[in-house]
Amino acid sequence: METVAYLLFGHFLAALFLYLNHRFVFHGKLGNTKLLKRWKKVHTMHHKFDYVKQWKKYALIPWWGWIGLSSICCIVGYYTNMFFGIGLLSYLISYEVVHYYLHKYPRSNHLNEFHYYHHRKDAKKNFATFWTFFDKMFGTYNKGSK
Ligand SMILES: [Zn+2]
Ligand SMILES: [Zn+2]
Repeated sequence: METVAYLLFGHFLAALFLYLNHRFVFHGKLGNTKLLKRWKKVHTMHHKFDYVKQWKKYALIPWWGWIGLSSICCIVGYYTNMFFGIGLLSYLISYEVVHYYLHKYPRSNHLNEFHYYHHRKDAKKNFATFWTFFDKMFGTYNKGSK
């Protein structure tokens, strides 16, 4: 039981971090700092090529991003609890897969529409990729419409 709690806690904490990262680094002033500039650029390019022919080239986390992020998960997991670390990593992996399909099939269901809204209608809304309750919680939610 405790194991599941650690996994879930890690998963949702990573989701919260990525929400904050998307809002304040990718679309905020924090991304203009020297350290985070290159990281922000990945997302700027993703927006530029979001649903066009070359979308695949910019839709995934780059290899150096994966090295950085998975190292953080391993280090945190090592010093706290292994299942907590796995929970963190589980969000990153599910993010990568789900986000890929949100772009592969744009506007095909409510989640795809939710993300499409962020890309094409209002980049200050819908920062969470699939746990939409984060946007509801922080007042940045828009369900979008066809
Ligand atoms: Zn996207
Ligand atoms: Zn964005």
